[in-house]
Amino acid sequence: MKRIDILTLFPDMCSAAFSESIVARAIKAGHLEIDCHQIRTYTEDRQGKVDDYPYGGGPGLIMSYQPVKSCYDAVLKDHPTDDGGKPYTVYMSPQGTPFTQQTARRLAKLDRLVIICGHYEGIDERIIEDIVDEEISMGDFVLTGGEIPAMAVADCIARLVPGVLASDEAYENESHSDILLEYAQYTRPEVIAGKKVPDVLLRGNHADIEQWRLENAIGRTKEKRPDLYEKYMRREREKNTYYFDNSATTKQWDEVTARMARVCEVLYANPSSLHGPGFDAEKELTSVRRKLLGLIGGEDSGNLYFTSGATEANNWVFRSILPANPRLGRHVIISAVEHPSVSESALSMKEQGCDVEIAPVDADGRVNVAKLAEMIRPGETALVSVMHVNSETGSIQPVEEIVREVRRLSPGTLVHCDCVQSFGKISVNVKKLGADLISVSAHKIHGPRGIGFLYADKRVKIKPLLYGGGQENGFRSGTENLPAICGFETAASVICGSLDDRFSKAARMKEIFTSAITSGLKTYVLNSPEENCSPYILNVSFPGLRAEVILHTLEKSGIYVSVGSACSSHKKNRSAVLTAMGKNTKVIDGAIRISFSADNTEEQCEFAAKTLVREIKTLYALHSRKKN
Ligand code: SAM
Repeated sequence: MKRIDILTLFPDMCSAAFSESIVARAIKAGHLEIDCHQIRTYTEDRQGKVDDYPYGGGPGLIMSYQPVKSCYDAVLKDHPTDDGGKPYTVYMSPQGTPFTQQTARRLAKLDRLVIICGHYEGIDERIIEDIVDEEISMGDFVLTGGEIPAMAVADCIARLVPGVLASDEAYENESHSDILLEYAQYTRPEVIAGKKVPDVLLRGNHADIEQWRLENAIGRTKEKRPDLYEKYMRREREKNTYYFDNSATTKQWDEVTARMARVCEVLYANPSSLHGPGFDAEKELTSVRRKLLGLIGGEDSGNLYFTSGATEANNWVFRSILPANPRLGRHVIISAVEHPSVSESALSMKEQGCDVEIAPVDADGRVNVAKLAEMIRPGETALVSVMHVNSETGSIQPVEEIVREVRRLSPGTLVHCDCVQSFGKISVNVKKLGADLISVSAHKIHGPRGIGFLYADKRVKIKPLLYGGGQENGFRSGTENLPAICGFETAASVICGSLDDRFSKAARMKEIFTSAITSGLKTYVLNSPEENCSPYILNVSFPGLRAEVILHTLEKSGIYVSVGSACSSHKKNRSAVLTAMGKNTKVIDGAIRISFSADNTEEQCEFAAKTLVREIKTLYALHSRKKN
């Protein structure tokens, strides 16, 4: 910061603050300039008026546009910016964003700043529209004028200007420089009023003093500012955590939690209730449903039913929608690499007389479209179910191609697509994909658990899985979980709004792991295909080692990955996906899945990949010693 101009009706009040102590010395030493300008000087009113009555009536006076704007123009004329542009301009206002040390740090990086102080009942709104870049508040209270806030802002920025404080250390442990409040400070005498300075500060052991100060800072933050303490503890917990199990579940975003809390607080009524609050909840539900439908491009093509997640949606498709469409036939095809909520639901329908066939996959885990086409029995195949992205390997299935074949050979056959690992990661557009039924879960995209949806094209005849109060158009009873539904929409909107950026970031992170493994190790098998694969999943085997051992070894360094699919990792069975891909038992037993979120950082990946390579080398060395 080189220069701050304060526009005010009381310049003497402001300049007084900068004529003493540290800031005065900084100005004198030429570290920065602060000028206070009298707005009244620039009024064109003959009586020197700078304010007027508010239109529409009401108490008090409003500062007029003309004197403020003329004062602003004069300041710019006398002190043009280096590039001739407009300097960053803030208006002190109780309606602004609360001022914090972070705001000060951001503003201190600018060369120039203009601060406008309001007075009376405020300022003509058009000034804010025309010249103000940001409104800043001192807090949720109302002062008589913007002068005291402007002095506080200028003072806070001034002490961040290099050279103003005697040493940079002065900021280091200061309250609000990071999260913790500053530790307790003492000066001479050693004992006063019966109170002694803590011994550790007198002993001169620097490490002990540092440790005491940290503990003291944590303790007083906990006591005085529990909100900051929570924030600090959370960061500390996360500091040494390298979470790469995002295909199992993701960390719920703060904005999702905040939205859910707001809905719990305000829209707590049952959307089915007939009173006003119930109507408001229903309105929100309708709007959120429409937004989510929009995100999958399905506004006019079908309906979206909220479920407890994709597992329920998948069960619904096989156990209820399939029997509701008997005219379509009793033959079902699923791919060999489906999630158990699809494969087991499908197989359970054998008891109801369904003929379930499994479509094979190639060595990359992709469905062989020609073989699947051969299985289709026109007029008899009721349903084909193929997932979009495989949860264990990341293989992207040729769903569009499959839909085209199904439509060509048996137009009545329904196509279901489990989009759990694709929605929010790659584009999911129901019209482009062509599937009639789509299942999605919120917790895979930083949304809440226990919520998801089933999208169904208009041509699909729906029958409920759950009976009761008739919610979701009578198709899925149970009071709608509006907080979770809204949280889901927040997560979905954020993630779908940054799909490409997140995709590229995930690809870079996957590449960090892949190149560390391929360049650092001799024995490995990459189970995720190179092409047509989600960048969010890397499945890799270390034949001869056991995946559980690798997982627990990595865990010691705070690195969390999974063995196969997290949903099935409690089961002792070998991965059905890798088996279907033709992998041998050694490869299957040594397979781990590393799954990314764009919230992971490249630094985390570098550390985790390096650690993985090192630990695998050690495990192989132990393994060969045991064998010998
Ligand atoms: N009528 C205004 C309102 O309700 O939002 C409040 C006007 S206030 C009495 C007069 C001026 O004091 C404001 O225009 C603003 O410049 C300043 N001011 C008052 N409280 C403030 C606060 N908390 N933070 C920053 N500026 C404040």
